[in-house]
Amino acid sequence: MSILLKNVIIEGKKRDLFIEGKIIKNIGDNLDLKAEEEIDAKGEKAVLPGFVNCHTHAAMSLLRGYGDDLSLKEWLENKIWPLEAKLTPDDIYWGTKLACLEMIKTGTLAFNDMYFFPESAISATEEMGLRALIGLVVFDLSESGQPENIEKTYYRLQSKKSDLINLSVAPHSIYTVSKENLIWSKNFAQKENLILHIHLSETEKEVDDCLKENNLRPAEYLNQINFLGENVILAHSVWLSEGEISIIAENKSSPVYNPCSNLKLVSGEIFPYKAFKDKNVNICLGTDGAASNNSLDMIREAKFASLLQKHKEKDPTFLPADEALSVATKSGYRALRMGSGEIKEGNLADLILVDLNKTYFAPGLNFVSDLIYAASGDCVSDSICNGRILMRDKKVEGEDEIIKKSKKIAEGLVRGQINKN
Ligand SMILES: [Zn+2]
Repeated sequence: MSILLKNVIIEGKKRDLFIEGKIIKNIGDNLDLKAEEEIDAKGEKAVLPGFVNCHTHAAMSLLRGYGDDLSLKEWLENKIWPLEAKLTPDDIYWGTKLACLEMIKTGTLAFNDMYFFPESAISATEEMGLRALIGLVVFDLSESGQPENIEKTYYRLQSKKSDLINLSVAPHSIYTVSKENLIWSKNFAQKENLILHIHLSETEKEVDDCLKENNLRPAEYLNQINFLGENVILAHSVWLSEGEISIIAENKSSPVYNPCSNLKLVSGEIFPYKAFKDKNVNICLGTDGAASNNSLDMIREAKFASLLQKHKEKDPTFLPADEALSVATKSGYRALRMGSGEIKEGNLADLILVDLNKTYFAPGLNFVSDLIYAASGDCVSDSICNGRILMRDKKVEGEDEIIKKSKKIAEGLVRGQINKN
């Protein structure tokens, strides 16, 4: 497949961009090349790299809006867990499709997922055409989360690995996975050269319990068992001491900042962005699941990310728009080991077009500022992932069916019925 983008705005200039296969082949002026698909943006659309959502639970989109404005304990125990217990592989398939649809529509082209029934998540993601790292969730209390079953699932799903799909080992957290199983996860990831994805220090309780049990704070505990390393992605990472931040920096792990979810669930602490940045840590951005956000829109997330840090540091110059954009794109591709994140010849063709005719891009004095502080994911008109057009002029194949089906499943779940087709 070849695609020619005519008259698109790249870094403020009107250019042409030619995609061959999955690669950005040429960027130039008046490119005279034949392509199977041509999009003429007439100077009214800008090109950007796709966003990367570095921590989410895609299928939780089915639970969006269910049990909002509750305490974390009440939300989990009375709302989320009882509903999650009923989810079937088919529900996960449609929930993941719904999440992928929202991501395509708002410009996210890659995501780091952690949820049940990875096979369903893979099928849905493959069909939607997004890039994803699908986590195999290690969890002491579930049958599927036992090491022997993770190993079986991994070898069974290995054939599904592709340009777009990769697998990670995802021990849920230090409070739901034993020391023995954390060490197993680390060793298995090392053996198979996989990324590890874990929740870390989202709440103060996690820190207090870890101190009581191990006389160590969570990151110190993970370091003691040699869990940390360059292949480790740490979701949340809000309740950290200076010493823990140094440990994470020394191990070159990537923390994921989830500002909206932390604010909504009142995690009680703000992500230590400055301390990580001062130590050159690869900071990424994520939305968490749609049940606790409730949106997967990375532009919205980037705005919260920037504003919250300005507030924390009492410094309006801190985390400016261009840095927020880079954290939401380039840093994510780096953490997930996917070669994109910049519009450059030779890079993977993961890119989006944004509609410059939207009101929030007027008068148009500073594009990146308008994008992060004024726009929303709704500005995205076209999404191209791995050289394939997933959305053209805001239309995604099969979107009506996904919305209809996910509404039906969610209604069934909420009514207390196990949904069957
Ligand atoms: Zn999470």
